[in-house]
Amino acid sequence: MELYSGHINRLIDELSSLPGIGGKSAQRLAFYIINLPKDRVKRLADSITDARENVHYCKECCTLTDDDICPICSNSNRDHRTIMVVENARDLAAYEKTGKYEGVYHVLHGAISPMLGIGPGDIRLTELMTRLQKQEADEVIIATNSSLEGETTAMYISKLIKPTGIRVTRIASGVPVGGDLEYIDEVTLLRALEGRTEI
Ligand code: ZN
Repeated sequence: MELYSGHINRLIDELSSLPGIGGKSAQRLAFYIINLPKDRVKRLADSITDARENVHYCKECCTLTDDDICPICSNSNRDHRTIMVVENARDLAAYEKTGKYEGVYHVLHGAISPMLGIGPGDIRLTELMTRLQKQEADEVIIATNSSLEGETTAMYISKLIKPTGIRVTRIASGVPVGGDLEYIDEVTLLRALEGRTEI
C-alpha cells in the first residue's frame, strides 16, 4: 500500500533526486510545500522555471548570468588582464565577497576527475584557452579546490597555458586539503590569494 498520495510521492521523488537531499529531507520539504499558501508555492515553482529559462553562461567567463556578458566581465574598472580560474560560480561568489580581488574570473563548472570519468572536455577549458588567444592576459591564477580533482585540474591547466608565456600561479594551500572554497572564511581566502606561487 502506498503511504502517501500519488502526487505527494511524485513531489518527494523529485525533491530526493536533488543533491544533498535525502529521503527524510525530501519528505519534510514535500509536506512543508503542501502546507504553504498556494501563491507561495507558485512563486517557488516560477522561480525555478524562470531561473532555468533565463540564466545562461557568460560569453567571456562562463559564470551564470542573466545577460550575455556578466556584470564582472562588463565592468571596465576590473583588471581584465588577471584571470582567476575557479571550479564553480559559488567559488567565484566566495572571492567576490572578500571585495579585495579586482581581476576577472573563469568558471570551469567542474574539475577533472578520472575516477568519475570527468575529462578536460567536460569542463569549460576550451573556452578558457580560446579566451586567452583573443584577450591579452598577464596572469592566470588557478584557484581550484585543494582536492585531488582540483590539483589535477590545476596541473593540467598550467601545462596548457605555460607555452603561451602567460604567468600561471596557484593559490596557496592555506585552504585545507579537500576543502571546498565556498565554505572557507574570507581571511583564509585572501591569505591563499596573497600567498599564491608560480607553477
Ligand atoms: Zn563573465
